[in-house]
Amino acid sequence: MSDKHHPKKRFGQNFLIDETVIHRIISCIQPTNQDALIEIGPGFGALTHKLLIAQPALSIIEIDNDLVKFWHGQTKTHTQLHIHHQDVLTVDFKSLATIAAKPLRIVGNLPYNISSPLLFHLFSFDDVIHDMCFMLQKEVVDRLCATPNSKTYGRLSIMAQYYCDIYKLFEVPNTAFKPAPAVTSAICRLIPKKAHARYPIDPVKLAECVRLAFTMRRKTLPNALKGLVTVEQIISLGLDPKLRPENLSLLDFCHLAELT
Ligand code: SAM
Repeated sequence: MSDKHHPKKRFGQNFLIDETVIHRIISCIQPTNQDALIEIGPGFGALTHKLLIAQPALSIIEIDNDLVKFWHGQTKTHTQLHIHHQDVLTVDFKSLATIAAKPLRIVGNLPYNISSPLLFHLFSFDDVIHDMCFMLQKEVVDRLCATPNSKTYGRLSIMAQYYCDIYKLFEVPNTAFKPAPAVTSAICRLIPKKAHARYPIDPVKLAECVRLAFTMRRKTLPNALKGLVTVEQIISLGLDPKLRPENLSLLDFCHLAELT
């Protein structure tokens, strides 16, 4: 990390400084020169420099003008590096996959302030993504992997598990970063499920049903889903109307969404 750069809070700039953690992340990614590899938020390159050793034709997506300038300065050495100076939330990953002519491998120590919208943005490109390996706030990774009947289980868990198989790999203490964030972090791998491994439901319908249900997660199902499904329909699925949204599995939600 450069001493001249003042980390920008609005861009979630907590730079990785712990070499052991950096090596562990790279071994989890296992980058190769065959990969259509994309890094979100390279910063000053804690991961990037190691990714470039394996795949010189790496693509990076960075929003910060100063950091983009830094990376343009690196292109004399890294001649195949593709720099996308863009807000990742506006990136069309489908066209990147078309250019690469293969599914994408997307990695990064993500800006935590946009993690949920970013994950939902990425899920909308699930069919052109091979896998993703991300550093996120530990609480977000726990929510991604959460199972029913737990406090962390909710909209993000259900939608993420609809789209992907998710693996929590390891936790990272805040001392691994400069500046140190207030929270613990964790690395996770997300692998988009193939169409045949998914319940055949329109994801827009599923998302709407789950959104409504978790707007009032402490209410019983008929109250939480008022206007969307009736108590009779809930019973017809073999679900107890006294249950709350947090008691339902992904499959239960797919069945409910099918009725809408
Ligand atoms: N990869 C570096 C590291 O591990 O040291 C930096 C990680 S830092 C947590 C997040 C990075 O994402 C920063 O480089 C930041 O400027 C960039 N970033 C933040 N918001 C972004 C956005 N909306 N689009 C693209 N990059 C963004």
